[in-house]
Amino acid sequence: MSATLTTPEAKYSYLKTCLCQIKDLEAAAAVLNWDQTTLMPPGGVAARGRQIATLTQIAHEKLIDPTIGQILEDLRPYEESLPYDSPEAAIVRVARRDYDRSSRIPSEFMARLSEHQAATYEIWTKAKPANDFGAVRPYLEKMLDLSREMASFFPYEHVADPLIDSEDYGMSVATVRSLFAQLREKLVPIVEAITSCPPIDDSCLYQYFSKKRQVVFGRMVAERIGYNFQRGRQDESPHPFSTSFSVDDVRITTRIDENNLTEALFSTIHEAGHAMYEQGIAPELEGTPLAAGTSGGVHESQSRLWENIVGRSRGFWECFYPQLQGMFLRELGPVSIEKFYRAINKVAKSPIRTDADEVTYNLHVAIRFSLELAMLEGKLEVRDLPEAWNERYKSDLGILPANDSQGAMQDVHWFCGTVGGMFQSYTLGNLMGAQFYEKAIKINPEIPVAIERGNFNMLYHWLKENIYQHGRKYTAEEIIKEVTGAPLSVNPFIDYIRNKYAAIYQIEL
Ligand code: ZN
Repeated sequence: MSATLTTPEAKYSYLKTCLCQIKDLEAAAAVLNWDQTTLMPPGGVAARGRQIATLTQIAHEKLIDPTIGQILEDLRPYEESLPYDSPEAAIVRVARRDYDRSSRIPSEFMARLSEHQAATYEIWTKAKPANDFGAVRPYLEKMLDLSREMASFFPYEHVADPLIDSEDYGMSVATVRSLFAQLREKLVPIVEAITSCPPIDDSCLYQYFSKKRQVVFGRMVAERIGYNFQRGRQDESPHPFSTSFSVDDVRITTRIDENNLTEALFSTIHEAGHAMYEQGIAPELEGTPLAAGTSGGVHESQSRLWENIVGRSRGFWECFYPQLQGMFLRELGPVSIEKFYRAINKVAKSPIRTDADEVTYNLHVAIRFSLELAMLEGKLEVRDLPEAWNERYKSDLGILPANDSQGAMQDVHWFCGTVGGMFQSYTLGNLMGAQFYEKAIKINPEIPVAIERGNFNMLYHWLKENIYQHGRKYTAEEIIKEVTGAPLSVNPFIDYIRNKYAAIYQIEL
């Protein structure tokens, strides 16, 4: 049919239609996945797995169709004739990147990988509570082999490069390793200084807080900061996540613990941050490959900026604490705002990444990053992973995990995705978030005061204008450079941590 497409405009229009169909298939799979984790009865599991696999496979086949490859080749002069930032040029550019990546990976391999991922996840969900690393070991060994095989379809300097590039396009082991090294060097003394102070009493957060009220409060906060419930909704799921079916339907989930106020509250702000990014994508990009976050790191920068830099700031609680206190009068009535603010910012060396405070968090990520590199390089055998994990926790955080379920089996990533390529996004996100926010308040110094008064518009609009609206039009590297005028650096994050925690702990950092 490409023979009938004679003009570049006709070819472009045909390409756009195909890409929209691919996007529709992916969105349909996302709806099925959302339903599976929120509402579906347990009996639906087997059929649902098959249905999602069918849609994913059709979408993949449509994308790697050689006709698409030919059209993308034919459209090179058309693309070059257009401005770099035009939607047309960006769609062709990003579609070519997706096509090149997907067409290198054989469909037969994709099927093998997803089958093994499903099996490994299933085993992990049982082995983790049973603290039985032996049960997942052979699965993880095969997952490591498959991760190496995945990398082998691409040219690389380091075997983890293609895995990192898939989540954080343009990043490599060399760049991420260097950021982690700089970060560790500066963070370790800060953590030491803070944790030698008397610990903060955060017991006010661990009382009984009714589920119903927690949900009401969380929704109110999400709405106030800019999450649009007319184009989204919130449900419960075992692990909080956000998912997008179109720019006008971006959903979030939460998990509520009636004995822990922070769980639902901060996961709601976190997921709302992810979702506001996707809701803020320019409407004209809907149905194109540009209608998504540009990288794992940039996505995480938006969730963590709202969750930590805003949601754990003193100004934010100047605005919301009276309302929270009013809702939980018996529990929080006697707790001053200062006490509450210190409690939600308590720094402690702890074994669990997802419970970690923002100061120690990146040390948890650094451990995983270096262990997965060691496994991929063949320097660390899977059977020695639990011991290596514990040694690193002892040397870097001064604690020994109680068992392997709190140790090497703690996170799902290696047991459902690939070994390598995922963890770095969390730390890249923390660094990017701090760098974006530093710039935002340089341009609009009134932002912190506006937040204190409950006006989140100023920050929201700055982020929408500079980041959200573009979707995948620019790479992470391009956005950071364009928006902040500098390449990604650890300094804004370190400065932010130093200023904030020196005040909280009343020490010099
Ligand atoms: Zn996130």
